[in-house]
Amino acid sequence: MKCLICGQDLETELSFTSLLLLKKEETYTCSACFNHFERISPEHCPTCFKEGETSPCQDCQYWYKEGIQVEHEAVFTYNEAMKDYFHRYKFDGDYLLRKVFTKVLYQKFQKYKDYQLVLIPLSKERLQQRGVNQVEGLIEGTGLSYYNIIDKKEVKASSSMNRADRLQVENPFVIKEGVKIPEKILLFDDIYTTGATINRIKKMLIEAGCQKIKTFSLVR
Ligand SMILES: [Zn+2]
Ligand SMILES: [Zn+2]
Repeated sequence: MKCLICGQDLETELSFTSLLLLKKEETYTCSACFNHFERISPEHCPTCFKEGETSPCQDCQYWYKEGIQVEHEAVFTYNEAMKDYFHRYKFDGDYLLRKVFTKVLYQKFQKYKDYQLVLIPLSKERLQQRGVNQVEGLIEGTGLSYYNIIDKKEVKASSSMNRADRLQVENPFVIKEGVKIPEKILLFDDIYTTGATINRIKKMLIEAGCQKIKTFSLVR
């Protein structure tokens, strides 16, 4: 077994861990590589986990004015190591890398046991292009099931658009027809930047009758 990030052999490290824990845990990276990822410190925005804020940040205040109460949790900051990771995972298509955060996500999701997991989808066109949905990839290894209740429509912006078309560009997500909306949802995306995507979908699901939605991303 080799570290998925640097390619170094993991055997020495693994046998040492096995001795300590008396079982062989699956590890996909060496500890040096994993330590380059930076966890969000205790000093973060209370509602979206933005690093270095102690009260609701500007993004969260913006969403509040839009009628959305942000309730988000994230694990890591978007530092250089994370940037490299996502570059390789998403754009170079190194799909093996989906396993790097399996354990972390599995542990984090334990406290959301009574929530149904819903993932941010890719459009059909994008899915065909990439072959895989990388957000789905991150969850796959956790063995947790998720509900597939949202579709993404690819709409290209053009000058001849009417108002409805423009709104569709702004929020290209729709709830699939005929699906039952769970009462409690944990909406998951890989990266939370301004929160635009995830919070718009959240609003849509609340309007569709969901009672309680929290959001979660690997990175903030
Ligand atoms: Zn490594
Ligand atoms: Zn915030």
